Amino acid sequence: MPNLRDFTLEALEEYLSDQGQPPWRARQIFRWLARGAKNFEEMTDLPKALRRHLTQTADISLPRLTTQEKGADGTIKLALRLSDGALIETVIIPERDHYTLCLSSQVGCAMGCAFCLTAKMEFRRNLSPGEITGQIILAREILGEEASRLTNLVFMGMGEPLANYEALLTALRNILHPLGFGFSKRRVTVSTSGLVPQLLRLSQEIVVKLAISLHAPEEGLRSQLMPVNRTWPLKELLSVCRRLKLPRGWRITFEYLLLEGINDSRATAQKLAWILRGIPAKINLIPFNPAPGLPFRCPSEERILAFQAELLKAGYTTIIRKSKGRDISAACGQLYARVA
Ligand code: SF4
Repeated sequence: MPNLRDFTLEALEEYLSDQGQPPWRARQIFRWLARGAKNFEEMTDLPKALRRHLTQTADISLPRLTTQEKGADGTIKLALRLSDGALIETVIIPERDHYTLCLSSQVGCAMGCAFCLTAKMEFRRNLSPGEITGQIILAREILGEEASRLTNLVFMGMGEPLANYEALLTALRNILHPLGFGFSKRRVTVSTSGLVPQLLRLSQEIVVKLAISLHAPEEGLRSQLMPVNRTWPLKELLSVCRRLKLPRGWRITFEYLLLEGINDSRATAQKLAWILRGIPAKINLIPFNPAPGLPFRCPSEERILAFQAELLKAGYTTIIRKSKGRDISAACGQLYARVA
């Protein structure tokens, strides 16, 4: 049975037209799905016979919320069980005037970054488009009356989003569609470890904000930290970043995890500033969150500020991103769901 949450509006129109239904029926259903309808009976503007028929022939089930944990800073980590029993995590992050949802795109991750707990999980599978957008529906339910303040999405949870390209693209189309989830393209960020061909393709197929996990300004160190660099070296990644056609005024965010004694010296900051020249860039510095099983430490405040100062001096907007949800392991690189 197909899950209709995996369809774009166009695909849904085609599916229903094969059953003799007009395109506007698809639009009605598409809207209900984004609003979080749990069954066809809730879709009260559909004829009863069609509701009955769809109940027997199509699926609209969602991931199931298993647990939620709230951190001292208000961050909420949700564990969701998928239809095959796999678990994923999604994190609601409170900001000053809105919420951001950190979405997962895969069960586990095959990219093997040395500093990431998700990399320690076995990679199980890609999420379907409906499993990706289902995280938004469940987060909205948890937020209740505050759901309208969930305005920002970041694909920085479990998985490499661009390694699940087709599902990501379908999910993004539904996320941005005004009859779907209706998010602003300015408020949706896809983060990648640097899959060059998919990055190029994504920028040609849809407009959303892009974030690149860089973490090192030279090939050898980056290959040690991020095995993806052996396939798609920094040089090629940055060359593509220089060629991306971004909307006026947009910049690419470069994420840079600060690891004590490894990539946090002033000289490294200068090298980073140099390699990003010519790219409309802003830099997020993320002090490492120590976690059991990961052999890294967080640099001192002094070193972090000195690193930032070098980048500011070179003219880059550089933010030290305070990781939220540390106490509930919901911070960057700490999502790790056990398959029970
Ligand atoms: S940092 Fe991202 S891409 Fe790297 S292993 Fe972790 S989840 Fe995968």
